Amino acid sequence: MAPLITNIQKYSIHDGPGIRTTCFFKGCPLRCRWCHNPETQSFENEKWDDGELVAHETSVEELMEAILKDRIFYDESGGGATLSGGEVLSQDQGFLLELLQRLKAEAIPVFIDTCGAVPYEKIEPLLGYIRGFLYDLKLMDSEEHRKYTGSGNELILENLERLKEHKATVYIRVPMIRKLSASTENIDQMIEFLRSKGIAPEGINLLPYHNTGSGKYQRLGRAYEGEDFEAPGKDEMEEYVKRLTAAGFKNVRIGG
Ligand code: SF4
Repeated sequence: MAPLITNIQKYSIHDGPGIRTTCFFKGCPLRCRWCHNPETQSFENEKWDDGELVAHETSVEELMEAILKDRIFYDESGGGATLSGGEVLSQDQGFLLELLQRLKAEAIPVFIDTCGAVPYEKIEPLLGYIRGFLYDLKLMDSEEHRKYTGSGNELILENLERLKEHKATVYIRVPMIRKLSASTENIDQMIEFLRSKGIAPEGINLLPYHNTGSGKYQRLGRAYEGEDFEAPGKDEMEEYVKRLTAAGFKNVRIGG
């Protein structure tokens, strides 16, 4: 079956460098309690409460056409296409390979926005066609990770290390939730992990939690489990930026 997509976002400025077109694929191996795109979690299509389908089957043609339409903006801004989700790397590999090959032939730089929780065999054959990764790191304690996302973090950390061996360009993104991912302990464990593995990301984006997706749970007939989550305050966020920068990491920023 062709992959399902929920949205093609044009003129996006938060999903990698420059102005980008971002394609949101449906289906994700994780179930983060703070997820603000719950409609992208299941691999099955679903309906909103008004009966409208959440996603539609896409084709390489559809995506190429949507992406190529804005080529002029990418050229001027250093942008391109971002494949996101859900988890794009969980989609059919033949489909992704064809899409990436065609984008490369058109000289469109592609970023992959990933949670990293996929077997490395799904990533490796695509590497030659990908300009960079937006790679999520959430909780460094694997049990906590399991508790809040439904899965441990071992595969995610292993894959990040392997991407380093392939010299892939990686921006790390951390959803910042007060007293959870946004804690000195979690950030220090992240620093320790990245340093011990010699991983030097192009940048680290600290993304403050927001609950703008909470209404979507209701529209899907589901309960939102993130009611107690909060974003850290501005001062606290700046402390984490300082901490990561002092540890030698470059381009540490608040926001996408
Ligand atoms: S990895 Fe992203 S899309 Fe998947 S459940 Fe977590 S927040 Fe949602």
